[in-house]
Amino acid sequence: MEARYVTFTPSADGLEDALRGAAALGIRGLNVTIPFKQAVLPIVDADTVASRVGAVNTITLDTWPPRATNTDVAGVARALSHHGVDPAGASAVVIGAGGAARAAVHALVTAGATVHIANRTPARAESLAAELGAESAGGLETATRIAEAELVLQMTSVGMQGEASPIDTSVLHSDLVVFEAVYTPKETPLLEAASAAGARTIEGRWMLLYQGVAAFETWTGRDAPVAAMSDALEEHLRSGERPF
Ligand code: NAP
Repeated sequence: MEARYVTFTPSADGLEDALRGAAALGIRGLNVTIPFKQAVLPIVDADTVASRVGAVNTITLDTWPPRATNTDVAGVARALSHHGVDPAGASAVVIGAGGAARAAVHALVTAGATVHIANRTPARAESLAAELGAESAGGLETATRIAEAELVLQMTSVGMQGEASPIDTSVLHSDLVVFEAVYTPKETPLLEAASAAGARTIEGRWMLLYQGVAAFETWTGRDAPVAAMSDALEEHLRSGERPF
């Protein structure tokens, strides 16, 4: 394919101009990351998934307003599926209530899991649970529910700067699958503790890979070269540079 994937940093008040400029330049699609995932919503035609999640990460520039979706949801679902994990009927604890957590809760609830949300700010967890149909919510101390759960999805930014796990890891057990959103470092303190407890772990790079796979398919209408993308991502992460 004759295509390139490059990064741009628009100014906070120039977002619509940046999108119009990208469209005028013939750019086919854009990924959007922090801090623009919510800010683009008034400019784009968000699909049901992005509207439900309240954030956009993938824009297709073939119409105006541009079509937009959120492939973090597919990123979670496909990363679980890649590891043979079916959330249907499972009891899951999501840690966090920001953008990544919103995508994870939507993916899990849609797949038929029973979800508890534990977040540093309990009010954010409670409103997210009410909005997206999670069963219950509370502060980080309620992560003790992991004792009876089969799935844990760590969706806060804790771990990126070498911080300890956001939850008390003594609750981890060997019947768990522990899924991490943070992709640098490869093994966060939570994943290390999960491995030590005998749990299965899914590193953050899998969500990153599959949200990119879904974006590629959205823009091109073709199956993504998943193995090539996975190798490129692995190599880039090994180099120690952040992908974005
Ligand atoms: P966000 O919207 O800013 O949300 C941050 C979340 O982290 C909130 O729940 C926040 O709790 C919590 N948090 C922050 N600092 C904390 C601390 N010291 N202790 C406990 N909780 C803390 O960010 P986001 O977009 O959801 O991203 C979260 C992480 O997911 C980032 O590391 C991002 O890189 C990663 N991510 C990965 C992928 C992937 O493909 N692997 C995709 C998207 C995001 P409060 O509500 O209390 O502030």
